[in-house]
Amino acid sequence: MSSEISTNTDQGLQPWQFFVLAGLGCATAVLFVARGRGVAAIVLLSLVIAATALIGLAALRTFKPLVSPEDDRTVMYGHRTRVALEREKLLALRSIKELEFDRAMGKLSDADWREMSGRLRARATRLMRQLDAGSGYREAIERDLAARLAETPLPKAPPACAVCATVNDPDARFCKGCGGKL
Ligand SMILES: [Zn+2]
Repeated sequence: MSSEISTNTDQGLQPWQFFVLAGLGCATAVLFVARGRGVAAIVLLSLVIAATALIGLAALRTFKPLVSPEDDRTVMYGHRTRVALEREKLLALRSIKELEFDRAMGKLSDADWREMSGRLRARATRLMRQLDAGSGYREAIERDLAARLAETPLPKAPPACAVCATVNDPDARFCKGCGGKL
């Protein structure tokens, strides 16, 4: 039974099959009511309804965890992509170092080193740019910071010294021009 459900869930037919099961249960119940017409029929009817409810409960338990993680899958996919990009970047940087080592050991000609290293550097730069563009963290932080600064605006124009008219820092207590108290 459980294996049958797990194979069916892969095809995405769960709700449809659940309703068919419920319909079959109800049809059986109606059949029993029509034939029995007694206390036994009512007992059977309640048993069938209970069984249907149990099947529904089991179906719900099976399908609920399959449906809910679906929403997180895109996030996970994005996260995995980011991790993969970072790993690729690290690999490229490590390869550049290995190339430099090989060249220092005399295993690599200068021309070969220049060509391979240039390709790896371009690749690493592209990956870093992709990571910067994809993250959006910096933009989010800057937006958050701007919103916070808008809530508590800093004094834009600090008052100039009354004696020498020197503009001092907003938190200055003494003038940096004449040393007088502000
Ligand atoms: Zn002053």
